[in-house]
Order: sequence, then C-alpha cells, then structure tokens
Amino acid sequence: MQRDFLIVGGGVVGMAVAYGLARAGQRVSVLDESDDALRASRGNAGLTWMQGKGAGMPRYGELSLDSCLAWPDFAAELAARTGVDIQHECHGGVDLCFDADEAEVRCNEYTALQGASPRLASDFRWQYLEREALLTHLPGLGESVHGGTWSPHDGHCNPLYLLRALYAACQMLGVEIRPATPVNEVRALGAGFSARTAMGSVAAERIVIAAGLGARTLAPVLGLSGAVRPVRGQMLITERRPIVPQLPTPQIRQTASGGYLIGDSHEDAGLDKGVTLEMLQVLAEKAVRIYPALRDARLVRAWGALRVMTPDGYPLYEESTLHPGAYNLNCHSGITLAALHAGALSQSLLDDRLGRDYPQFSGARFDVQAY
Ligand SMILES: Cc1cc2nc3c(=O)[nH]c(=O)nc-3n(C[C@H](O)[C@H](O)[C@H](O)COP(=O)(O)OP(=O)(O)OC[C@H]3O[C@@H](n4cnc5c(N)ncnc54)[C@H](O)[C@@H]3O)c2cc1C
Repeated sequence: MQRDFLIVGGGVVGMAVAYGLARAGQRVSVLDESDDALRASRGNAGLTWMQGKGAGMPRYGELSLDSCLAWPDFAAELAARTGVDIQHECHGGVDLCFDADEAEVRCNEYTALQGASPRLASDFRWQYLEREALLTHLPGLGESVHGGTWSPHDGHCNPLYLLRALYAACQMLGVEIRPATPVNEVRALGAGFSARTAMGSVAAERIVIAAGLGARTLAPVLGLSGAVRPVRGQMLITERRPIVPQLPTPQIRQTASGGYLIGDSHEDAGLDKGVTLEMLQVLAEKAVRIYPALRDARLVRAWGALRVMTPDGYPLYEESTLHPGAYNLNCHSGITLAALHAGALSQSLLDDRLGRDYPQFSGARFDVQAY
C-alpha cells in the first residue's frame, strides 16, 4: 500500500488526525503499542472544556474555544457514521472556587485573557456565580463552596466511547490500524519516512508523531521536540446514582450512567501511574464537600493516568525544518481539542500549512536561547 501518512500513536490525538485525514481521502496507517502502554486517552476525565485555557497564550484559548464550538457537530458526525453515541453534552460547565481569593484570581485571569484577544473578548462567555446562584446549575452543592465560574462552552463526553467511535470511523474509511505494534525507530528516507517495528518497517510520504509521552524518544530523531513530561492524575468513580441535572465541573461530574467521576489532581510522580490512599482520600473529601449527599456513596474503582505535559502546558504542533513532512502533535487537552484535530488541524496538514497556521506552537519555543 502506498501511504500518504503514517501516524505513530493510536491515542485520541493520533486517531482524531487519522480520521480527519482519511475523511479527506488520504491513505493513512496508524501504529500503536499494546494495552500496557502509557495512555492518557484511556484514563482521563472526558471534559470538553474552554475555561482555564489560554492564560499567557491567548491563541490557545481561541483554539480551545473553536474546538468546543465544533464539538456538537463532531459528535453528531461520528455517531451518524458509526452508531456510537459519545454521550457528549454541552449545556455549560462550572469551575468551582472554594474561597474569595481563588475567585478573584480566576476572574482576573479571564478578564486579562479577554483583554489580550479581541476574539475571546467577543466570543468567550463566562460569569462568576456565588454559591446561591450556582444552585440552579448544581443542585445539592455544599455550603462551603464559595462559588464558581460558569461558561456555556464547557461540556463533557465519554472519552472511551470517543476513542471507540474514532477507531470505528477510521476503519470504515480504510485506515490501516496496527495495534500492538510499537515503533522502535523512525527514519527520514530520501523521499518519505519509515518506522521500524518488530514486524518489519512501514513507510509513507509523511509521518505524524502523535505518541504522547513516546514522543520523548521518537520526535528528536526527526528534528522535532521531545519536550513532554508525565503529570499524574488520580481518578475515582462512585457507584451509579440517580441522575441529577448538575453541570459538569473539573472537580467532579456525574457520567451518563450515573456514577460520579471525581478527580482533578496533578502530581509529579515520574512514570508511576498508580494510585495512593492519601490522594484518593483528598479527592473523596473534596467530592463530599462539593456534594454532601455523596457521603454515603460507595466508590467502585480508582485509577491513575499520566498527562502529557509540555514545559509551558500549551500544545506542540510542529513540522520538522530538518525533515519537512515529519510532524509532532502533542497536547494535554486531547479530548477538548479532538474536534479541532479532526477538522482544522488535519486540514492544515493536508494543505502543508501547519507551521503557518500554528506558528506559536512550534517546539522551537523550548530551545535554549544562544547569547
Ligand atoms: C487524569 C487525566 C485527566 C484528563 N482529563 C482531561 C479532560 O477532561 N479533557 C481533556 O481534554 N483532556 C484531559 N486529559 C488529557 C488527555 O487525556 C490527553 O491530552 C490525551 O489523551 C492525549 O492523547 P494522546 O493521543 O496524545 O496520548 P496517549 O493517549 O498517551 O496516546 C499515545 C499513544 O501513542 C502510543 N505510542 C507511544 N509510543 C509509541 C511507539 N513507540 N510506537 C507506537 N505507539 C506508541 C501509545 O501506546 C498511546 O496509545 C486528561 C489526562 C489525564 C491523565
């Protein structure tokens, strides 16, 4: 098979781009590792979230907003193609504040962000709501919560169904997906690129490294940035409870099946994706503070997963200057950005415009400055 694109990494970033490219008629192969790999896409909170994005880099806020706005059509399109309902809901979301200082910092941040971007000044809608005003959005909210920022752009989905839908859609579009095929080495050829695996080499005209933390070793070989590090998050889920019409929050959300998904921890734990009793206790106590009715809820499962974090927290979207046609795609909000990745970002790859469309996101920003 003559391939246009070879994608290394079958997480939500690689699969969203594979889908976008295949939908445009490209011949695409995806190589992925096996079930024991580090995979943020299978352990995350499933938020499609605008709030908190872009402080220090307004363009990131704009992209996050674009993606959130594109999400309803993206979810509907995937459902129509595959029959998989991703359980995407976008009726707004609330980022909670536990005291007045936190509220002030948050409001100042969003105001500054809007001051730095005319687009966000007109299109990013948000409002700080005191606890009493939040009760209509979050019935049952605990008395010790100060308030929170509400935004209509925020939502949530089932991230595992998202991945399932992307795999199904890609297969329908003829994408060759090779699971349990770790890439040991990537190389630039005279024309095109190749990836060496235990089952032989695979070649294509262009190559996309979408390998999450795997980019640390693969990307630099092609002159791309490997500047990503793991940041652990621990998650808890309760037994199924009757559905309450509460908006999602980054701290806790009720899933479509009734379980409450809890967890907003950020830890530097190296490559350890385990859980600790200490952190699970912190998360459970916070959940009960937010919704006291959960005091009696049984916890049914806990897990840890590793975020893929760049030094400044913004995405890496870059083409190699050393080897044009080799790309590196990495971000820590791959669920939120999935609609963008399948849409505008894939189009930039097709049009050979990635560097021009996303200049702020090159790995060159992490290079040590020469004096
Ligand atoms: C606890 C937690 C909560 C989160 N919550 C949210 C949220 O609510 N909303 C949101 O938008 N984002 C969230 N995220 C972030 C989101 O999960 C990630 O941004 C996203 O999953 C990154 O996807 P990825 O495809 O880049 O990485 P991964 O999911 O890590 O996938 C990379 C893939 O590359 C493969 N790979 C690596 N090396 C190789 C190799 N050598 N050969 C072949 N394959 C290779 C791996 O096997 C893996 O399948 C959260 C993350 C965590 C950990």
